[in-house]
Amino acid sequence: MEERLQKVLAQAGVASRRKCEEIILAGDVTVNGQVVTELGTKVNPLEDHIEVNGQSISSEKKVYILLNKPRGVVTTASDPQGRQTVIELIDVPERIYPVGRLDLDTAGLLILTNDGALANGLMHPSREINKVYKAWVKGNVKPDAIKALTNGIELEDGMTAPAKVRLLEKGELESHIELTIHEGRNRQVRRMCEAVGHPVKSLMRTQLAFLKIGRMRYGEYRELTPMEIERLY
Ligand code: URA
Repeated sequence: MEERLQKVLAQAGVASRRKCEEIILAGDVTVNGQVVTELGTKVNPLEDHIEVNGQSISSEKKVYILLNKPRGVVTTASDPQGRQTVIELIDVPERIYPVGRLDLDTAGLLILTNDGALANGLMHPSREINKVYKAWVKGNVKPDAIKALTNGIELEDGMTAPAKVRLLEKGELESHIELTIHEGRNRQVRRMCEAVGHPVKSLMRTQLAFLKIGRMRYGEYRELTPMEIERLY
């Protein structure tokens, strides 16, 4: 529905209607990239992109994506070295960003959204949201190593919280383990495994809170359902 620009600005909380008229007359408002100085210009707040001094006032639709991140793709919005980013894998018009980070060589479950409140909530340490990782590690993982991981590991940035550990497969040369942690320190799983003498050969995040990667292929993504979004809040 079309409405007068000054009304739309006022309703978006920019300023009073009178003050918004002044802002428009001063040439500080653009509609779809064009400066508009005529009062009473009709706009559609849901379709037109309106900016005041370069700041968007349009309330963008909230988008929630679950991606199975492939290895070799960076978890940033842009990469100075020109490597492919997780954002480039996802075809949505909204500007979304990743919640947390997976290393370049880590695959698996990553949430991307433009909902800052949800993103901050998921990352906040007090929520202690569980993340499950499956790791192929070097060597034959013995009960001592599992006990050490389970108790917590002294890393250079301090003691980690206890992890839940399951041994999935073991052999003389390599073993497959599942680790559940709620902290999100830089390269935490790799550093924990290294500290117990089992460097990680390959790492994948399979679960975050109740969300699972299941059978999704690398690079595949889907939108979260309204029920999933509600449960994450
Ligand atoms: N721990 C790591 O070491 N790497 C990741 O990408 C995520 C958790």
